[in-house]
Amino acid sequence: MKKYEFWFVVGSQFLYGPEVLETVEARAREMAAALTKVLPYPMVYKVTAKTNKEIRDVVKEANYRDECAGIVTWCHTFSPSKMWIDGLRDLQKPWLHFATQYNKEIPNDEIDMDFMNLNQAAHGDREHGFIGARLRKPRKIVAGYWQDEKVHRRIADWMRAAVGVAVSKDMKVMRFGDNMREVAVTEGDKVEVQTKLGWQVNTWAVGDLVKEMGKVTEAEIDALVKEYEAAYDIATDNTAAIRYQAKEEIAMKKMLDREGCRAFTNTFQDLYGMEQLPGLASQHLMAQGYGYGGEGDWKVSAMTAILKAMGEGGNGASGFMEDYTYHLVEGQEYSLGAHMLEVCPSLAAGKPRIETHHLGIGMNEKDPARLVFEGKAGKGIVVSLIDMGGRLRLIVQDIEAVKPIMPMPNLPVARVMWRALPDLTTGVECWITAGGAHHTVLSYDVTAGQMRDWARMMDIEFVHIGADTTPEKLEEELLVKDLVWRLK
Ligand code: MN
Repeated sequence: MKKYEFWFVVGSQFLYGPEVLETVEARAREMAAALTKVLPYPMVYKVTAKTNKEIRDVVKEANYRDECAGIVTWCHTFSPSKMWIDGLRDLQKPWLHFATQYNKEIPNDEIDMDFMNLNQAAHGDREHGFIGARLRKPRKIVAGYWQDEKVHRRIADWMRAAVGVAVSKDMKVMRFGDNMREVAVTEGDKVEVQTKLGWQVNTWAVGDLVKEMGKVTEAEIDALVKEYEAAYDIATDNTAAIRYQAKEEIAMKKMLDREGCRAFTNTFQDLYGMEQLPGLASQHLMAQGYGYGGEGDWKVSAMTAILKAMGEGGNGASGFMEDYTYHLVEGQEYSLGAHMLEVCPSLAAGKPRIETHHLGIGMNEKDPARLVFEGKAGKGIVVSLIDMGGRLRLIVQDIEAVKPIMPMPNLPVARVMWRALPDLTTGVECWITAGGAHHTVLSYDVTAGQMRDWARMMDIEFVHIGADTTPEKLEEELLVKDLVWRLK
């Protein structure tokens, strides 16, 4: 992960005289330092801007500097907004307008006109808000006291979404083989995603990977197997299969890192020269923060890497998922999600086991090793990015994951069980209405609100299915959005 930071830009003007401006700057520095201690990324004080040029200069620098993942603006005093127009027009980084004030209370005894002139954020932030609205500039607005924990949580959430934007703009996806034959929802316009989201999606021959596997040494495999033994329980005697997966992982990682790719895809239909579909190999790469998509699904692969980066510590509990089958017993309505092999261990409730089993689908000559585990219980989301033709739609559904209600002893893969909101069948109807895919990113770390922020910053359509969604309301919403996005 790159070291990201956010820049604190305070708006003012010369009207109040140097003393007030000194106080504003001192307070802004104090606030930035205090916020840095409680937020996931540093808040760096940059400037108390009083002129068009100061604002343009800080925006130019923010656009240019890779470590700057966004700017946070605040108007301690009144800052006339015409001088913000050029800077905001040029701004290419995420923007949060922090409507706060230095003092928490109105001081009954000491308040006079000097106090009012210094502490007029209520006034200044409205002028600042107008220009954001007038310019139609995407922004997050957070109002509240700067020492309030709830406010910290909201800024932290936005910061993580903004880091998701930076990661997206840097995204390179390595495709081994094409998409699974005839599948529609995993397709998409690669030129559109590069223009809109910054993703470079390109293909590498499976033969190149096989060649790279040929160069992996026994010593490299020994070292990685030691890592597997430390992280997982070995529940198979088939050490050859584990070592083969290690060889695949090492070769894929070398290729990914050489090209600067943090996401990859493969397909069981194209494994020429390989004995096994990468299972454990892909799972352990995901555990390290790489995105993955099965059956050539590069959209879900890139999204997996982005949600991982948005999560706790820059590699949160998010993973590639697929809806498989339902339990439709009244009062126990759940989805069972899994994949052929590749479920990320960041979703696991306990220590995953390495097992080997036969895999009938695809070109596997030998039984692939894979991690088997149960998913965690807890609130989460599932996310799907689809190509509507001319635009991208991001669909997010709230879910409640549970400990799987049965052991399923013959199921040879990792499994997660959840209930979609508002309830399983309504949730499924809504998901299908919106066109959501069978592949998703399932996350325990990232919220629908953060994905909404991310979609706003990336300027793509956002659809949220949650506790209050009804199929009727959703249909109307999709109809209106379809019209709006055709005009955009
Ligand atoms: Mn699949």
